Amino acid sequence: MRFVANFGAKLRTMTSPAERHAELSRAIEAHDYRYYVLDDPNVSDQGYDALMRELRAIEQDHPALATAASPTRRVGGEARSVAVKVKHETKMLSLDNTYSETELGEFFTRVTGGLSATESVTYVVEPKLDGASIEVTYDGGALVAASTRGDGELGEDITENARTLRGVPLGIAHQGRITLRGEVLIFRRDLETMNAARESEGLEPFANPRNAAAGSVRMLDPREVERRPLRAIFYQLVEGPGLHASHAESLAWMEAQRLPTHRKQVVVEAAAVLPAIQEIDAARSAYPYETDGAVIKVNAYRQQGILGETSKFPRWATAFKFAPERALTVLRAIEVGVGRTGAITPVAHLDPVELAGTTVSRASLHNAEQIERLGVRIGDHVYVEKAGEIIPQIVGVDASRRTGEERVFCMPVACPACGGPVASKQQDGDLVISRCTNRQCPAQVKAQVHYFARRFAMDIADLGESLVVQLVDRGLVRDVADLYALTAHALAGLERMGDKSARNVTASIARSRARTLGGLLCGLGIPQIGQVAARQLAEAGRSLEAMLGWSDAELRERVAAIRGFGPSMVDSVSLYFADEAQRALLGKLVALGVGAPQPAPEAPPEGPLTGKSFCVTGVLSKKREDVHADLRAQGATVHDAVKKDTTYLVAGEKTGKSKLDQAKKFGTVVVDEAQLVALLGGPQS
Ligand code: AMP
Ligand code: ZN
Repeated sequence: MRFVANFGAKLRTMTSPAERHAELSRAIEAHDYRYYVLDDPNVSDQGYDALMRELRAIEQDHPALATAASPTRRVGGEARSVAVKVKHETKMLSLDNTYSETELGEFFTRVTGGLSATESVTYVVEPKLDGASIEVTYDGGALVAASTRGDGELGEDITENARTLRGVPLGIAHQGRITLRGEVLIFRRDLETMNAARESEGLEPFANPRNAAAGSVRMLDPREVERRPLRAIFYQLVEGPGLHASHAESLAWMEAQRLPTHRKQVVVEAAAVLPAIQEIDAARSAYPYETDGAVIKVNAYRQQGILGETSKFPRWATAFKFAPERALTVLRAIEVGVGRTGAITPVAHLDPVELAGTTVSRASLHNAEQIERLGVRIGDHVYVEKAGEIIPQIVGVDASRRTGEERVFCMPVACPACGGPVASKQQDGDLVISRCTNRQCPAQVKAQVHYFARRFAMDIADLGESLVVQLVDRGLVRDVADLYALTAHALAGLERMGDKSARNVTASIARSRARTLGGLLCGLGIPQIGQVAARQLAEAGRSLEAMLGWSDAELRERVAAIRGFGPSMVDSVSLYFADEAQRALLGKLVALGVGAPQPAPEAPPEGPLTGKSFCVTGVLSKKREDVHADLRAQGATVHDAVKKDTTYLVAGEKTGKSKLDQAKKFGTVVVDEAQLVALLGGPQS
């Protein structure tokens, strides 16, 4: 970062703004390329941000430089109000499938049969990426259009969204018109991070990367799309510079144009195709993205042309599908859970079964539609697969094993916890969420109080889960404000609650009054407002009282100005503060003196750890928040996850394996608490 700043200062004296702009754009594109295409970054977040800041500053003074190809303009497009259809110049076909060596042999026979006997054929074997297909067009060196596959003939225009796909260059060296096809996908590790964030914002996690990618790429607002960690990988040149004789040459050319490709292909003769497929199958669990098979393509374009296509798929290619690991077991019951926001989700209870190395006894069923689509009944033999190796899913029913004893499951029309009405609403395109709409629903209140007490929110450590259940069931707590009216006397009557622990609980509740507004806003569980957003919101509002005094227009204006707040977050905050019941609750909290004013954000201090980033995990002798504060005080940045440029992972006791694996992958230095203390220059206060 220091390097960049000095470098910039020196150059500014001798280069024109246009030259500096071009230089910065090239540097940013080069970093994007290393990060997203080569997966080998060599700049810190801060260094990258500094380049972006300088670029934006130049564009502010010289607006003419902010052309469509500028890296600042990845998210320039306005939200669409409707989906616009576009016609594909060449139909986007499906692929024929093969599942066995025999079927693969039949494919070879069809290929050679379609060509004259003297032709020798080579094949490209490449991974079948499991995402959502897109088509992208470049013209005059710039990305000019992008669309989804749709029904193959008509797709949806997603040009603005495609511009936000980092790693997909906005500009390429080649000036002629080219059209590429590829797959939009989300890396597994990015999905984990995104799902963790979604859960902290009260949103449903995505079941697998494919659903997440397919749902995200079609969203109408590019600013929302930009917040999803989408990538694209191209696998085909449909309209090219006309220089290549084969698919393999085109792939190499695409790589040279710095376009993201899978880089895993081999060119082989028929006899070596199956071993090549098996190699991909063996290696694919180490790929950062999901694959559901291999694609085998005749390499020579001339031969592809002779073979042609059917109305559904090209005759020169086939997909060899890998069998996902699946298991057959009995679905014993479907239990319905009610979450903090009232979301009602069916969960299948299964006879325990071994699947991909773990014992599975529960599986997600998502929603009523899915249960209906599968036709699954209680008591059925069901097939279970691991979707994206994360959550086990029921993928089918073996109806031949039915005895007639099976029962059809109906999504409850009333909330299983309170009997209140249930409403269904669409979320994220195709996910239908049913919610209990009763604000007083005890299941919701329990989940809300539990969330409110979490460490990252109000930090009421003594308020355990079973205590929350009792408090709500006995009517002592109907909302989070009621916690502050609890007396040790009232608590002492509860199960497993002596005088001393009752006093501990009330003391820890009383202490939480002094938590800052950021913790309070986080604890309220405003949809889409997680820990970081809550702190930013609190910094903008300073006190709850002040925020309650804002008109809706004022609130919207202030919230929209917060960095990283998109329109749907603004809507969410506005809705929350406009709601009479929530306002009443907030008023009660103000009257109770809950929530200390949020201190103004401070510029990160310069210190011995400036430029270093940390992730702190596991159990340490100090509270994690305090460790964060110590680190920040010395100039370090702190992240919740191990990222590519995380310098140190502080691993306390019981550190999870996944964090250690990430650290190993990214070359992050793992330190224990003693080493941390040394890094901090001795024990902190
Ligand atoms: P299917 O959806 O099963 O009909 O398979 C066809 C789809 O596979 C295409 O529309 C592409 O989106 C996708 N696909 C993934 N990887 C590749 C690849 N390497 N080559 C061609 N198509 C691919
Ligand atoms: Zn309910």
